[in-house]
Amino acid sequence: TSFAHFGFDEQLMHQIRKSEYTQPTPIQCQGVPIALGGRDMIGIAKTGSGKTAAFIWPMLVHIMDQKELEPGEGPIAIIVCPTRELCQQIHAECKRFGKAYSLRSVAVYGGGSMWEQAKALQEGAEIVVCTPGRLIDHVKKKATSLQRVSYLVFDEADRMFDMGFEYQVRSIASHVRPDRQTLLFSATFRKKIERLARDILTDPIRVVQ
Ligand code: AMP
Repeated sequence: TSFAHFGFDEQLMHQIRKSEYTQPTPIQCQGVPIALGGRDMIGIAKTGSGKTAAFIWPMLVHIMDQKELEPGEGPIAIIVCPTRELCQQIHAECKRFGKAYSLRSVAVYGGGSMWEQAKALQEGAEIVVCTPGRLIDHVKKKATSLQRVSYLVFDEADRMFDMGFEYQVRSIASHVRPDRQTLLFSATFRKKIERLARDILTDPIRVVQ
């Protein structure tokens, strides 16, 4: 598989070329077509596999389609991950590739300023990258709404469970419309993750790195 197989438009291809990636990684080869097809997906992949781009590229395509169908307020895509560092990394990739369409990304994580994050959310963004507890805090304070969210990613789900975020992860999933597209990434596929997948994904396709 080459990047040309994904059928991305020129704007996105331009950003990918700028990153100097020569070919898609295995998780991208398998995962991108599934996600572009609108299917739910379980990705068993570790850091370094290229999993971030595997969910960001189809997300950008989804957002551009959805923006036309449903103009309005609030993020269209939410990426939930365990730590501040990962949040910042994913946010940086969203900004880098989101430039193709002038999309805005906001990162909200525990330990950062509530006020500054709320301000950024209220200024508007199609993409929110967050840690679970902090997103819920902002939703409770009405700094943002999950009403328009139709693309939901949980990254490093096993690590979120290890950190005690299972309740928050499930709560976020239950507050996003049921006809959303959901992608779940995890380095391992333990019983608890399998149960989560059964509860929050619809007819998912499993991809192993
Ligand atoms: P990730 O597994 O998403 O954390 O990505 C690991 C690293 O691989 C990041 O620095 C990415 O920028 C880089 N990367 C992602 N996709 C590709 C690709 N197709 N070719 C080369 N590097 C990539």
